[in-house]
Amino acid sequence: MPQPFPIISQQKQPQAWAITPDSHALAELAKGIWDCAVQTNQRPLVVLSTAGPLIGLRAALEQNRPKHLPSHIAFLPQVISFADWLEAAPSAWKFPKKQTDLERWLSVFVNLRKHKVLQSWFKAESESGAWGLAQAVIDACDSLSEVVVPQLQSELNDLLQTHTLDTEAWLKKVELVLDQAIAKAYIGLSRNVVDEESAVLLTFWRYLTSIGDPVIRKHLAMASHMQLVKANAEKDRDTVRPFLWVQTADPKPIEQELIDSYLCDYAQFASVVRVDLDWQSVALWPEALCGLDVEGHIAVANTQEESQIDSNIQANRQDDWRLLAARRFEELAWAATKSVESYLIAGKKNIALVAQDRLAARRARALLSRLGNSLRIRDETGWKLSTTRAAAALDSWLEVVRAPKEGPSASALLEFLQNPYFDLSHSLNQSSEVGVGLIAQLEDILIASQAKAGWETFTMAIERANSYAATNGGSPNAHLITLIQFVRKLHAGWLPPTVDCSSAYALLQKNLQETGMAQRLEKDAAGKQLLEVLNSFDLSGGIYQDVKMRLPEWLSLLKTVIEEAAYAEAGKEAQATLSILPLSSTRLRQFDAVVLVGCDEQQLPAFSEPPLFFSDTLNRYLKSSTIAAQYIQQARDLSQLLVSCNNVDLLWQSKSKSGEPLRPSAWIQRLQTKLKDWRVIDAKPETVQGQSQPIQMSVSIPDQDLAIPVTVSPSAYKALRDCPYRYYVTSLLGLRKAKEFEEGFDASLAGQTLHALLKTFFQALKTEEEKSHSPIHQGYEARRQWMIDHLMKCSEKEFERLIAGDARVMGTLRDWQKQIPSLIDWQIKREDAGWRYHDAELPIGFTLSLTDPDGVQREIRIAGRADRFDIQESDSTAAAVIDYKNQKMKKIADRAENILDDPQLLIYARAANENPIAAHLPGRTVEQAEWITLKAELDKGEDKNIRAHAVEDMPNAMAQFSEQIVKDLNGLWARKPMQAFAPDSVCQYCEARGVCRKGMW
Ligand code: SF4
Repeated sequence: MPQPFPIISQQKQPQAWAITPDSHALAELAKGIWDCAVQTNQRPLVVLSTAGPLIGLRAALEQNRPKHLPSHIAFLPQVISFADWLEAAPSAWKFPKKQTDLERWLSVFVNLRKHKVLQSWFKAESESGAWGLAQAVIDACDSLSEVVVPQLQSELNDLLQTHTLDTEAWLKKVELVLDQAIAKAYIGLSRNVVDEESAVLLTFWRYLTSIGDPVIRKHLAMASHMQLVKANAEKDRDTVRPFLWVQTADPKPIEQELIDSYLCDYAQFASVVRVDLDWQSVALWPEALCGLDVEGHIAVANTQEESQIDSNIQANRQDDWRLLAARRFEELAWAATKSVESYLIAGKKNIALVAQDRLAARRARALLSRLGNSLRIRDETGWKLSTTRAAAALDSWLEVVRAPKEGPSASALLEFLQNPYFDLSHSLNQSSEVGVGLIAQLEDILIASQAKAGWETFTMAIERANSYAATNGGSPNAHLITLIQFVRKLHAGWLPPTVDCSSAYALLQKNLQETGMAQRLEKDAAGKQLLEVLNSFDLSGGIYQDVKMRLPEWLSLLKTVIEEAAYAEAGKEAQATLSILPLSSTRLRQFDAVVLVGCDEQQLPAFSEPPLFFSDTLNRYLKSSTIAAQYIQQARDLSQLLVSCNNVDLLWQSKSKSGEPLRPSAWIQRLQTKLKDWRVIDAKPETVQGQSQPIQMSVSIPDQDLAIPVTVSPSAYKALRDCPYRYYVTSLLGLRKAKEFEEGFDASLAGQTLHALLKTFFQALKTEEEKSHSPIHQGYEARRQWMIDHLMKCSEKEFERLIAGDARVMGTLRDWQKQIPSLIDWQIKREDAGWRYHDAELPIGFTLSLTDPDGVQREIRIAGRADRFDIQESDSTAAAVIDYKNQKMKKIADRAENILDDPQLLIYARAANENPIAAHLPGRTVEQAEWITLKAELDKGEDKNIRAHAVEDMPNAMAQFSEQIVKDLNGLWARKPMQAFAPDSVCQYCEARGVCRKGMW
């Protein structure tokens, strides 16, 4: 039976009333509030301890408004949450400035610097861990302040009464009182604290507590409200409004004391009613009915209470409470989605998804998003701002900022440049056409040259690509270098290892402006909120503006603050609303249906992370929240939810990740023992049957409209030989996998450098030979030494820039330098046989003419760049082609066995022979071709003796190759089926594998 609203008495004491927290709770409460208004003939002030039921209560007040009210009380009574009421305190302008979370973290940081005793604590922490610990320290200090500050209440009251206009002087006085109280309390508390950890925390508390803390402000606000009440009562007692305090959740003992004392004081001037929740007919478990005993333990129910619970269960049992067990995570999310869908189909408009299992709720949300705009999803569990695209974009810039002075990794750079908020044309101050394809081009270059990290490396890669384009009929793109320089300049601003808070903030804002990100973020909902969070870093004018810290510390602070921020989704009109919320947020709220996901024994009840510093016993002493109190609160919340709503689905995963069976929550099991017919339904996904066709080996016939390239490089021809389907995918369709940068040094750019330095060296050798007094003419040893010294120096010089870009390249240089003496020995031996270096890095090719099936004459150019040509001194018609390979001899031997599938050397030989002038070899014929390893295994004796591998039986190989290439290209132009076949060794690294689906057939 609901209790009637009390008759307001004149006794100067708070009166008590209780409402039953079932589906009629808000209506009952609203009627009581109106009753109070009518009885006192005044508009009451209603303060709710939590904000959740505010909107529902206002609506209930409107619906239950009595008829024929006198006009001065006809307005809706003022209903406000406790937090808002504190904010609305009179003379709040006088209060000390509210400290932001950021300022409080910084105060921990500053105190750490000042007090050695505290530093040992943070030593082992990483930057982000340290900020997390700072948050825990602040929370713990607040708990301590909660216990101590009430003792100051009368002093605070007195201080507020002094009508001084000098706010500064007033604040000083408040500060003094606080300091004295802390000093006194510190001695008392330290007697209760035995372990070192808590002792250090107390020290923190002593240093950190300031008048800007929320606890102090709360007390000041309450004192200020009381002062106004007193002042009004002195003028005219009847102007003081009746006060209703609605306790929507069990308070912490310390909060209970605080509000009780406020209500007692208020009752001296006007009527006060304290509204609690009456669990008598709602509790479904004894703990929900009995609560805690005086010592803070869970009270044991007597027989009468036990039978009350039994009757509550029977009376409140609803046919539409469903128990659904799913075996796997995906099935659980699917079942939750289906539950929500079924309620939507049944016409429910206001549905709750209680996220006891947050991951499953998130997954269900994703599945439900396919319902589009007809369902509005409100996530009250706190969607983190850090998970938005805007935050990821900022993060990509911070990754560049934290890079060492040599520069960021290529992936970090590309990630930043490819973020949708980066405005390329704004950054380069160019028209938007200039930017088209620029970043894709940069990505191509960095991937192709495997330029992995460092500004110098990127610049080198671009310069090489540009010069290649310039000499091969392409167009070099100067904007690529400008882009790198632009980002490099911004990065240079972050090179000093320490920053002060205000200039770091200013620099970050400047970066966002210069890159056009600020403007784009401003146009985006999440971006706007992100910019607001960043604005909290504007500490200019505050005491922390000059605080200095290491750059990683500042960046980590920035990330921690963003991580803490929640993203508020913009609301939109829809046919139905789904609220995703924690169990605690369902209190005194009405829903048409509720889906509770995660009701297994591990997640229901769920306890908040235990405080880092206090034991449960110490918490009890500090009158803070305990595990027992949380347990009871959740039993009550769940009772309330089940009793208030007819349609409740309770879902859980019946098998844990490790395959162990998971039972439903003990609360559900206990209900099941009382409700024998309440069965668990197995939530199984619907199975749809169909016949599938096994996939056959992939074959494609090139479409008539598909252009066939008229130039073929040696590597493209190799791809065609290896697997026609692969050639079809990569060369004809032009599909390319977005490559990740591999760990380890960028082999390709190093390979290019080796080729370049060998060319420089041999050209220098040629010039040196023309000097008659050069040491190279002074015998074998002198020549050898000159060559070694010179190649060493040449290598140092060529690698210099690469090393500036990425210091790890030093290892590659040293490995290469170990190869030099043996390479020179091989070279000298070759010279002894009459061979002389002639030219290097020469672009050459030949043209094939063929007629396609339509009768059209096609000219196909087979072209590449030969590493080196040698000439024979003793035979004025002989020449040789050499290819440097940065791989071991074993691989070269394998290559030689399949020369017709990888005929790079044969292509160069034919090109030189068909056009000796273009190859700078007039009158000579290439009859010899060799691969030279630049990576001989010296310790295995692979030195001067086995550094080269010659192509065997050249004339025959050349003839076979010429016949084969004509056949292959004719097939290609005839658009014959291109089949996927290749040995596994080729398929292993094939980027077309996902298209040909090798392994499925
Ligand atoms: S995975 Fe193998 S069969 Fe498939 S396209 Fe690549 S090379 Fe050919």
